[in-house]
Amino acid sequence: MLPDGRRRRLVLALAALAAVAACPQPLNARPARRILVLGAGIAGLAAARRIADAGHHVTVVEARTRIGGRIDTTRSAGFVIERGAGWIHGLTDNPLAALAKRAGLTLRRTSYARPLALDASGGTIAPERLAAAEDQMTALLERIDARTDSPAGVSLAKAIMQAQHGKAVPAVVSSLLRLEITGDLGADLEDLDAGSFDEDAAFGGGDHWITEGYDRIPALLAKGLDIRLGEPVVEVAERGDGLDVITAAGLYSADQVVVALPLGVLKAGDVMLPGASLGPRRQAMERIGLGTLFKLAVPLAGGLPDVDVILPADPALAPWTGLYPLRQAPAPAMMLIAGGRGARALEQMPVDAALAAASALLSRLRLPAIDRSKAWHVASNWSTDPFTQGSYSHPLPGGSAKDYAALAQPYGKRLFFAGEHCLFAHHATVHGAMMSGAAAARALLAA
Ligand SMILES: Cc1cc2nc3c(=O)[nH]c(=O)nc-3n(C[C@H](O)[C@H](O)[C@H](O)COP(=O)(O)OP(=O)(O)OC[C@H]3O[C@@H](n4cnc5c(N)ncnc54)[C@H](O)[C@@H]3O)c2cc1C
Repeated sequence: MLPDGRRRRLVLALAALAAVAACPQPLNARPARRILVLGAGIAGLAAARRIADAGHHVTVVEARTRIGGRIDTTRSAGFVIERGAGWIHGLTDNPLAALAKRAGLTLRRTSYARPLALDASGGTIAPERLAAAEDQMTALLERIDARTDSPAGVSLAKAIMQAQHGKAVPAVVSSLLRLEITGDLGADLEDLDAGSFDEDAAFGGGDHWITEGYDRIPALLAKGLDIRLGEPVVEVAERGDGLDVITAAGLYSADQVVVALPLGVLKAGDVMLPGASLGPRRQAMERIGLGTLFKLAVPLAGGLPDVDVILPADPALAPWTGLYPLRQAPAPAMMLIAGGRGARALEQMPVDAALAAASALLSRLRLPAIDRSKAWHVASNWSTDPFTQGSYSHPLPGGSAKDYAALAQPYGKRLFFAGEHCLFAHHATVHGAMMSGAAAARALLAA
């Protein structure tokens, strides 16, 4: 919370009014509007880009001292490591992939064709056993999809129990469910709506890594935009025929506003919005949760097997969901990923404790240890980061596409909403956030 900003509201109002008065008056019949975009993540930048290109005065206000939000590339280890989004999911009809290609970025296809599944003591699970478990998992999920007698609002964990008639799910199948679902959505099966969790859409063409770094994408959209960094917004208030946006540093007056803030920030109530704008949004926020995907990149003291991904395929190895060799590194290095509530616990502990947990996993799986002689590691903390408060959205039991639509609903002709949580079909992705930003801009321009 940033009470300071509110206290300074009146003092800063005068300065802000002076700034607005200094704006050049439009000469044409349809004057340029003054638009504020809150948040310089991909959704906010996509909206701002489109509105600025339509000739309006746009200011983007961002809490952090960098743009990109959950796109967060670091080169602190001497090569590209993604703390947030890593892949472009699908190329066909994907506007994000089209943007990357137009900019001449190098997209490298990621293959998962050579997985290595290990049990709790590092023994290899035979590929045939893994394939059979995969088939069992698919059949189980299809049985759940086909059931028409399940009451609405049931969790995936409960739906699995019902579909199994109380019979336990075999350990490898249960691990695969965790690896594929929790490892993707960042949420445990207890926290997912059985009817909605996998009803979103995907583009074809496979996952691609941006060799130059994901941060090239927000940088492209941000070119030439007026972006105020390090200014957390604390309130949006109605004022006559416009809106006031109060930040920790000042007050802006606008004709229209795009709220492109993370769902975690909105759920926590850290930014006050006009009460009347909340409406059904309030209930929708209660039915959409935020998962955690913890990423930890480390140097290793030895070479890795030549595989695409290592799967910790035993329930005892939770919350870890996948170990990815970092092929772009000049020496052996790996990205360990964990998902769900256990991942949140890892993010909450001091980083040394998370490193110790990772070391214990590597030793159990009989993989090379972390190379402590190298002075780097990269750990994410999206769930404890005050400007995100979770990795990305998912429908809680009882949540559905309708709730995402309620979150995207504009408030009159002045307040518009964007972000990964505003487009069910592509939620939890960069392209979904970008598409929602473009949609909010279109609606704003048409209003
Ligand atoms: C670990 C992880 C891995 C992921 N992997 C992938 C992947 O491989 N592929 C993929 O497509 N997607 C992935 N995603 C999801 C993707 O990163 C997000 O869906 C997307 O970036 C969200 O964009 P956004 O603009 O909605 O939100 P954000 O990027 O969070 O932008 C919101 C902005 O608002 C700012 N803000 C917050 N509070 C305030 C405030 N009070 N005042 C002003 N500004 C504020 C934030 O600092 C931020 O810059 C991943 C996410 C995480 C966390």
